[in-house]
Amino acid sequence: MTPTAPITQDVLTIPRKLPEGKVNLVGLTREGLSAALIAAGTPEKQAKMRTGQIWQWLYQWGVRDFNAMTNLAKGYRADLAERFTIDIPEVVNKQVSADGTRKFLVRIAGGHEVEVVYIPETDRGTLCISSQVGCTLTCSFCHTGTQKLVRNLTAGEIIGQVMLARDDLDEWPKPGEGAGERPRLISNIVLMGMGEPLYNFDNVRDAMKIAMDGEGISLSRRRITLSTSGVVPEIARAAEEIGCLLAVSFHATTDAVRDRLVPINKRWNIETLLGALRDYPRLSNSERITFEYVMLKDVNDSDEDARRLVRLIAGIPAKINLIPFNEWPGSPYERSDWVRIERFADIIYKAGYASPIRTPRGEDIMAACGQLKSATERARKSRAQIEAETGR
Ligand code: SAH
Ligand code: SF4
Repeated sequence: MTPTAPITQDVLTIPRKLPEGKVNLVGLTREGLSAALIAAGTPEKQAKMRTGQIWQWLYQWGVRDFNAMTNLAKGYRADLAERFTIDIPEVVNKQVSADGTRKFLVRIAGGHEVEVVYIPETDRGTLCISSQVGCTLTCSFCHTGTQKLVRNLTAGEIIGQVMLARDDLDEWPKPGEGAGERPRLISNIVLMGMGEPLYNFDNVRDAMKIAMDGEGISLSRRRITLSTSGVVPEIARAAEEIGCLLAVSFHATTDAVRDRLVPINKRWNIETLLGALRDYPRLSNSERITFEYVMLKDVNDSDEDARRLVRLIAGIPAKINLIPFNEWPGSPYERSDWVRIERFADIIYKAGYASPIRTPRGEDIMAACGQLKSATERARKSRAQIEAETGR
């Protein structure tokens, strides 16, 4: 038997291993990209210029082949290709709804899947992106909430969703063209897909910084909306560090009902949430907070609810987005009747707030709000259902 050496000694004598595998450049901030280039041997004096050049290829023109980066010397391109990759998530399935909505099922490292939805409208095109695989929260009306959290997406996987949609829409300007030379198909981004973006703050922030960068995708911060279920301690940070618009999944006017619908309310209740919204640093009439309100039959849709809602949000520049509930297999609620939704909208409108009713989009392909769930999860569920039904 060979005597075992003390473990501590082993640890101390084995040199720290260099990270294996290539580093993905997608999702690094400008500073991160610069640091990665320097670590790979780019002279510090050149790092800023090289960062700018590579950034432009990646995010202005959507080029993902080092060899096509023609303003870099051939040898340098080869060095880059040896050390780095340019990876975005892979589209494994695309569905197009009768109304033009496109839903992408996207596979990320580890074989996990998230969904991304593109919604074309006459005056805009909105891309709804995901921030997590699944969600730790368990809002009782949300399909994603029935899927456990698998993991946070990386910044590269978040901005990668924008990049793959631009690929699909053939929206990248050609190399040499500026950002403003083509009509924008993706004019808005909403963080309203799977997951709670404020529970993956740093990655969401870094990805949105890339989306807003003027020498790249170049979307205005006012065209990015982050939707949160109400993670109060992170709300002010969203204003300060991202500067985007905010939407809040409000959905109820009493704590008793909100506790049931949006369980994070047990941690930060309506009053605490409203306090944070009143302090939202960018509050002004042109940058109103969107209150999302899902219309659930006989649960939160009475006239009294509408009046209470108006009283609660008094003083906050707001618009109320009414979302007719989108059903999913096994969902425990029903959508409010259309006349009820209109009556609710009317009370809010008469109190001086915009109260648009969100038209469900892509319902035929299960792409509407709150219906997203990875296909494998859905299949697992239906297999479980089949097994239950057949008594196996
Ligand atoms: N996790 C974040 C963002 C994703 S959900 C949040 O909760 O805000 C985007 C919006 O769709 C939220 O307002 C959410 O409450 C709503 N939603 C979820 N499930 C829904 C459903 N089945 N029908 C209608 N809206 C739903
Ligand atoms: Fe998560 Fe948002 Fe769904 Fe709630 S509504 S479970 S926070 S994705």
